Amino acid sequence: MLESLRRIVQEVNNARDLEQALSIIVRRVKQAVGADVCSVYLNDYDNHRHILHATDGLRLDAVGRVRLELGRGLIGQVSERAEPINLDDAANHPRYECITDTGEERYHGFLGAPIIQNRKVLGVLVLRQRQRRHFGEDEVTFVMTLASQLAGAITFARTSGELVRLQDDGIPQRFLPGLAASPGIGIGHAVVVYPPADLDAVPDRRPEDLDAEAEEFRRAVREVAGDLDRFASRTQVHLRVEDMALFDAWRLMLESDTLIDGTLSRIRAGNWAPGALRETIADHARVFDAMDDAYLRERASDVRDLGRCILMHLQNRDTTPIQYASHTILVGEEISAMQIADVPREKLAGVVSTTGSGSSHVGILARGMGVPAAMGVSDLPVSRVEGREMVVDGYRGRVYVSPGPAVRSEYQRLAADDAALTSELQALSHLPADTTDGYTIPLYLNTGLVSESRPLGIEESAGVGLYRTELPFIVRDSFPSEAAQMSNYRHVLELFAPRPVTIRTLDIGGDKPLPYFPMHEANPFLGWRGIRITLDHPEIFLTQVRAVLRAAIGLDNLQLLLPMVSTVGEVDDALLLIQRAHDELLEEGYQVRMPPVGVMIEVPAAVYQAEALARRVDFLSVGTNDLTQYLLAVDRNNPHVAKLYNEYHPAVLRALLQILTGARLHGKEVSVCGEMAGDPLATFLLLGMGVHSLSMGAGSLLRVKKVIRSISRARAREVLKVALQCEDAGSVRRLLLDALETVGLGGLVRPGR
Ligand code: PEP
Ligand code: MG
Repeated sequence: MLESLRRIVQEVNNARDLEQALSIIVRRVKQAVGADVCSVYLNDYDNHRHILHATDGLRLDAVGRVRLELGRGLIGQVSERAEPINLDDAANHPRYECITDTGEERYHGFLGAPIIQNRKVLGVLVLRQRQRRHFGEDEVTFVMTLASQLAGAITFARTSGELVRLQDDGIPQRFLPGLAASPGIGIGHAVVVYPPADLDAVPDRRPEDLDAEAEEFRRAVREVAGDLDRFASRTQVHLRVEDMALFDAWRLMLESDTLIDGTLSRIRAGNWAPGALRETIADHARVFDAMDDAYLRERASDVRDLGRCILMHLQNRDTTPIQYASHTILVGEEISAMQIADVPREKLAGVVSTTGSGSSHVGILARGMGVPAAMGVSDLPVSRVEGREMVVDGYRGRVYVSPGPAVRSEYQRLAADDAALTSELQALSHLPADTTDGYTIPLYLNTGLVSESRPLGIEESAGVGLYRTELPFIVRDSFPSEAAQMSNYRHVLELFAPRPVTIRTLDIGGDKPLPYFPMHEANPFLGWRGIRITLDHPEIFLTQVRAVLRAAIGLDNLQLLLPMVSTVGEVDDALLLIQRAHDELLEEGYQVRMPPVGVMIEVPAAVYQAEALARRVDFLSVGTNDLTQYLLAVDRNNPHVAKLYNEYHPAVLRALLQILTGARLHGKEVSVCGEMAGDPLATFLLLGMGVHSLSMGAGSLLRVKKVIRSISRARAREVLKVALQCEDAGSVRRLLLDALETVGLGGLVRPGR
């Protein structure tokens, strides 16, 4: 059963549109359970009905014609209760309604299972049997498991098919929902980026020269054939004759008409070679996937492997850098920081990713650059959108593909409002972040995620509150030397001097692995991260600290920050190592000074020990991104649980208060450097609590400054007092929105003025 389940889900995932996905489902489920009929009804909530969308067994002309009022009959009951119904004779059930158009009056046994995604019933999967049949427990759980896995694929296939049919002619249009990751409105054309040799992620693309494209494909096939020959002759001595036959099988597949002619005809139809190859391989593998013989079924993975080899050779030619047009919307399943940094800032209009959330590092980067972004747009069929016009609503996390005229013009208006707001905010650049009752809360910059010689926000900020040092480590193929690190740090320290620059020691692990330092962990976020790694490898820590201390000579604007601390022992050990690096450098004749050292509070354990930590160091800085994920047990990169990730959760607010209380006992300052600091709504809370400074991405600096300059600290305290009485994040957010609208600044967090 598990094997059939896996195969069906894989086949459905590769379907080109909803129709194909559903026809695979009904055929394969009917076969697997040995039923006489399998059908799928989908719910049309707009028109209040269930529609028969696919069947294997009932009359085919009933598909699309049979429509039941929502909630009627057994289908209605399964959908309403979101529970399966298993009956040996459906006609005896009081809710049964006989639908004669389908020819189903001849059937007795009935099993209906709801298809649910994100708590919403999309439709019902129905099995029928001519005889009386009570489906066994195993069969019921099989169908339910399958239905739960198919929901995502059905939504995806539906969107994908709609996009293929969609013309730019003003068809009323749905948006694709995602998570708001960076405010603003982006209108432009999609450029799809994808990891190398990942066939499924390759987009469709229109090539300029079809003949050249076909030739490229033939060349790649010849090169793979050459690879196979070389590999076969190299391994001849080690392999048995039977095993050598594998190479012959690969050669045959490689030279088959299905592969060669299939791909060439798709290229002739207007797709580039990698896109044409992706479709051909998917079709070809699907044939093997559907075979009953286990050996032949396994050949599907050979076909996919072969596809990947050809793709690698096709990609090897692509050494020319991508030429980005103006108004590029960068789209991908998983976009890397490097891919964002590759697009010139003035050409980047938006970022859309099918995975991740606002607090994953790509979201943070987009916000830092002031680029509208939506993450976790999981229904977006990435391979179908290359070159299409797109609207990104970064305030609400919505994406429109090929928007109709009404959507486009509404968003053009909102984008114009946004541009007006941005230029209005520019006027605040050189003004201090003072409240109306004269309290100053310095705003610092978060930087370091991309290598820019002049990061945005230099003028607007009071210094750097968080310099993430991971980048120079990530882009190399070995640890950077002390000298290479020093020149990096010197650059940023000089750029901001005499303003303070807080440099955080290496925080790899979690979602920031190093390619040359492999870690295989079941739970990377609960694993070897940040200070845990650098204390286990003092040579890495000491090299970095030496580089930082040397970089600050003569500038004296350095502060050091320790990430992922969960025990006081870690701080004691790190302080000893910093002191050792300092003393050694002095002995070597460098005029270094001990900088102020701070601890990041981003783990619940550190919240409860804020007082003991504050006693040991000079300041605390709250990393609300990690703190929220650890307090709420929600992976910040996982779109399935992203709705639960919320910095206004009462637990987060109470943790912040506890940290401030701990620090106050030792007269130490507390900064917030997680994304919460850059959220104009949260400004009320943080100001009200008495946080001493905020550090954020460049895109947020002026928005937050605008709020601070528009309210008094007394007002912030009042709002905080009410917020602390709320029992859930939603009520806190509503309260804050209301407070922001009252001072006329709602436009900072939603589209429109
Ligand atoms: C945080 O966790 O809030 C933080 C600032 O660190 P990072 O996002 O780099 O993990
Ligand atoms: Mg962190």
